Amino acid sequence: MEELLKRSEKLTMVGELAAGVAHEIRNPLTTLRGFLQMQRQMKTVNVEHTDLMLSELDRINLIVGEFLILAKPQAFRMRDRDVRTVFNEVLSLLESEAHLHNVIFRKSFANEPCIVTCEDNQLKQVFINVLKNAIEAMPRGGRVHIHIAAKQGHVVITITDEGEGIPEEVLEKIGQPFVTSKENGTGLGMMISQRIIHGHNGTLDIQSQRNVGTTVTITLPALKDERADVILEA
Ligand code: ADP
Ligand code: MG
Repeated sequence: MEELLKRSEKLTMVGELAAGVAHEIRNPLTTLRGFLQMQRQMKTVNVEHTDLMLSELDRINLIVGEFLILAKPQAFRMRDRDVRTVFNEVLSLLESEAHLHNVIFRKSFANEPCIVTCEDNQLKQVFINVLKNAIEAMPRGGRVHIHIAAKQGHVVITITDEGEGIPEEVLEKIGQPFVTSKENGTGLGMMISQRIIHGHNGTLDIQSQRNVGTTVTITLPALKDERADVILEA
């Protein structure tokens, strides 16, 4: 039942967003069509125009890609998992990307189990979105501190970067679709992350100071009757 509810919630959310997505995709499509038509008339291929068309195609791909995660119903399965393990899986995925940008991940994980009931692919998506933003906020590199602890019936995850911070006008609008300060941003990552965490009965808060850094705090309800098979996983 709960799962059904979650799924219908998810579908509503996808529906709500469809209008916005259609708009975001129509712009690059219009550009693409214009260039193609021009090439047809001129009967020549212009490299500059082709590059623009490719970057418009990449943009469409990026936007559609972000929505695949939400719209994939068969991937939806709630499980009991240790957040430390899930996070480690994400870190190994992002290690080379971080290295490339001179970013170092510093972990401080609790010694005791931090188990939550979650759709772990969705949770991973949230961690990836937040870590990517942290990497992108530090163009010259830096450290990202990841803290995971279990306290008072909750698992608390904080991710802190030493980046540029979030502009005031962006911070107050975070969670709304297509809010971005980046040239090639989609402005979907934080919105999707917030929705996923709320879908897990958790909270996602952002604190940021210009040129000092940003901390994202995610709180999830901890599983009370910790089962042995799950604990062994960590
Ligand atoms: P995108 O990364 O595609 O722009 P997001 O939804 O992930 O979209 O983030 C929205 C905006 O929030 C970003 O464009 C950026 O301005 C701001 N932001 C998010 N996380 C951080 C961070 N760690 N440091 C600085 N700015 C951030
Ligand atoms: Mg992002």
